[in-house]
Amino acid sequence: MYFDPVETLPRQELEQLQAKRLKNTVAVALNSPYYSRVLNAAGISPDSITSVADVKKLPFTTKDDLRAEYPYGMLSRPLEDFIRLHASSGTTGTPTAVFYTDEDIREWAALMARSMYACGVRKSDVLQNMSGYGLFTGGLGIHYGSERLGCLTVPAGAGNSKRQVKLIRDFNVTVAHIIPSYALYFAEFLQSEGIDPASLPLRIALIGAEPHTEEIRKRIEQMLQLKAYNSYGLSEMNGPGVAFECTEQSGMHVWEDAFLIEIINPETGEDVAEGEVGEVVMTNLTRQGMPLIRYRTRDLTRFVPGDCACGRTHRRIDRIQGRADDMLIIKGVNIYPMQIEQTLMSLPEVGQNYLIELFHEGTMDQIRVKVEIREEFFVEDMRELQALQKRIATRLRDEILVTPRVELVQSESIPKTEGKAMRVKDLRN
Ligand code: ADP
Ligand code: ZN
Repeated sequence: MYFDPVETLPRQELEQLQAKRLKNTVAVALNSPYYSRVLNAAGISPDSITSVADVKKLPFTTKDDLRAEYPYGMLSRPLEDFIRLHASSGTTGTPTAVFYTDEDIREWAALMARSMYACGVRKSDVLQNMSGYGLFTGGLGIHYGSERLGCLTVPAGAGNSKRQVKLIRDFNVTVAHIIPSYALYFAEFLQSEGIDPASLPLRIALIGAEPHTEEIRKRIEQMLQLKAYNSYGLSEMNGPGVAFECTEQSGMHVWEDAFLIEIINPETGEDVAEGEVGEVVMTNLTRQGMPLIRYRTRDLTRFVPGDCACGRTHRRIDRIQGRADDMLIIKGVNIYPMQIEQTLMSLPEVGQNYLIELFHEGTMDQIRVKVEIREEFFVEDMRELQALQKRIATRLRDEILVTPRVELVQSESIPKTEGKAMRVKDLRN
């Protein structure tokens, strides 16, 4: 039923374990140039930590701190102890590098294996990793986890959909790891090739690495005829395998024996009220080479209240709503791209891709949404298209309180990049 007995540890014992590990993290971190500086300045020693609540005594670490210490300022061990590095995708600026000792790699693989097991992947499965390899953690991170679980692992990488299909068929692939935007693209590819997804052996997709709405998950499940599970992680915390959905599909369990999670109000730095949305802050509890303390992820979500029916005791977080940096301010109104996605994807006429553009009109900021329309709805009749366009604009206005320009485009006409989808294009400068 569970991969590791720690998954069902009673809360009290789990918190004792966390406290012990947090103390150790402080001890390990003190060996790094950066943390010896800031922790000593704050008068923190391992003895400052006797309970989980003592985490509040520790300073935050930000992405800018990582950038300033690039490349080696955060390492707690001599360089020769490291065997791997990864870098973030650089979605929001200069990338940051993360380093792993042999032990860290093993620990990460075990967390990943546990994650996949939680959503029903077993040793007898064949897993095709359809995400990019290289510096991106979704490649080797998933790969090592899959091998650790004992799955035959196909390192397909991203793109080349024709070849993906052949591999899936030839090796009877039952599980795919694929980022949501590529999953939709891949589903459309199958459609255009006249391949019935039910004829493929796939039964599970692990989807993550980029924000996506419940509507997108449903589309992926329906178009690919499988179950899709949300996977959350970030390179600063290893990569994937930080929080994962179980088969209940009701929030992602954060592996609290390895990560201490807080959800804070980004302005005040204080915990938000239970169940409220805030910024995820993470502290490594088991990492040896480069533990991070109270890392400000900028990712926004909330704790899912209550216990999970699966019996795991580790708390769950809701799907990530986006990053604090994603927020758009148009005409004084705060807008998150995921609000737009949610509205668009609830309309059957809307295809699998969209693009939000920001531009100047006179002195005003304007927002334009390019929306792919499904083949069967892209009719010649101008009036029908105009009516649809208007309907989409009204729906969006109801959701975001600003009326965007809506441009309808043909299916598959918005360029698709390999890797994480770029949903917003800022044309203002
Ligand atoms: P970058 O921050 O440059 O994209 P990473 O490759 O480390 O670098 O990506 C981690 C980020 O990706 C997370 O902080 C989060 O914003 C996003 N992310 C990862 N998994 C998910 C998920 N399941 N849902 C939404 N966003 C996710
Ligand atoms: Zn569960």
